[in-house]
Amino acid sequence: MKKIILTGDRPTGKLHLGHYIGSLKNRVKMQDDYKQYVLIADMQALTDNADKARDIKSSVTELILDYLSIGIDPNKTSICIQSQIPALAELTMFYMNLVCLGRLERNPTVKNEIKQKNFAGDIPVGFLAYPVSQAADITAFGANYVPAGEDQKPMIEQTCEIVRRFNNYYGDVLVEPEIILSKTPRLIGIDGKAKMSKSLGNTIYLSDEPDEIEKKVMSMYTDPNHLKVSDPGNTENNPVFIYLDAFSPDKEKVDSMKAHYERGGLGDIAVKKYLNEVLQNLLEPIRLRRKELAKDIDALYEIVREGTSEARDVTASTLKKVKEAMNLDF
Ligand code: ATP
Ligand code: MG
Repeated sequence: MKKIILTGDRPTGKLHLGHYIGSLKNRVKMQDDYKQYVLIADMQALTDNADKARDIKSSVTELILDYLSIGIDPNKTSICIQSQIPALAELTMFYMNLVCLGRLERNPTVKNEIKQKNFAGDIPVGFLAYPVSQAADITAFGANYVPAGEDQKPMIEQTCEIVRRFNNYYGDVLVEPEIILSKTPRLIGIDGKAKMSKSLGNTIYLSDEPDEIEKKVMSMYTDPNHLKVSDPGNTENNPVFIYLDAFSPDKEKVDSMKAHYERGGLGDIAVKKYLNEVLQNLLEPIRLRRKELAKDIDALYEIVREGTSEARDVTASTLKKVKEAMNLDF
């Protein structure tokens, strides 16, 4: 039997290069050898956006377009929608009793996001508990692997703790998942900030038009001490070189540019021009496929309805086993 992958995204906008290099690329690669489910986590999107429920549908459409245009193949991967899969909510209720409040409050990613989102004293219960609902998502599919960015590590740890506690109380039913990190588990933003993220507005989107990509690349933060072309520059912690390492197919060229920049004599503009070329080459075919696919939105939703129906069956079967193990099968 093929091992199982569960991965997904919150529909809160379009996907960017951080998603691509942190997780999407692995999903495209792994779908040949594994059974993959990609979950559009619309209920999780509500945990910090309850008042913006109306915007979710258009973001779901954007996500499906992004997935199919980067090469997620519906014949190998089932794309499904969280809110249409009732077993996920039921499992979340059971798992809530297996986690303490203090443990959720200590989750470093949640802690960080609480600070970033300025909840002050008003943290929605659903937000604090979203790692529990994510544990339900992962285990409902019986996932062995979760390809994701570094910020998801605490979520997978929390899931494993819930699995161990469940299996300890009720018997060996749930599977402990493992995170699959990419070579670039956390891509920094074009502003040099810790993470490229929709919420921080420092992104290059997979669907950006050529002139937007160029504008963003040319505005990128580099080495602040590299003032004159002849100055020796720093390539470490330099976003432009970090992006070249992540996205250029020509490693030798990048290495020789790094050496030149460090020696002095290579200007930021020349490096940015090459990065722009690399990103244009990467994103052009994706953008063109996306435009083609956008001509038939009904066909996209047919794919997702099929994926969701399959997901409903798989997760219902896990829920049945869970209830039996808990002696709640009436
Ligand atoms: P939001 O700001 O709404 O939280 P986001 O841009 O941080 O959005 P998520 O939807 O939280 O994106 O992340 C979806 C997936 O993409 C996760 O697996 C996450 O780890 C990965 N990911 C997101 N941003 C990056 C990044 N900059 N580098 C590597 N992986 C990333
Ligand atoms: Mg995030």
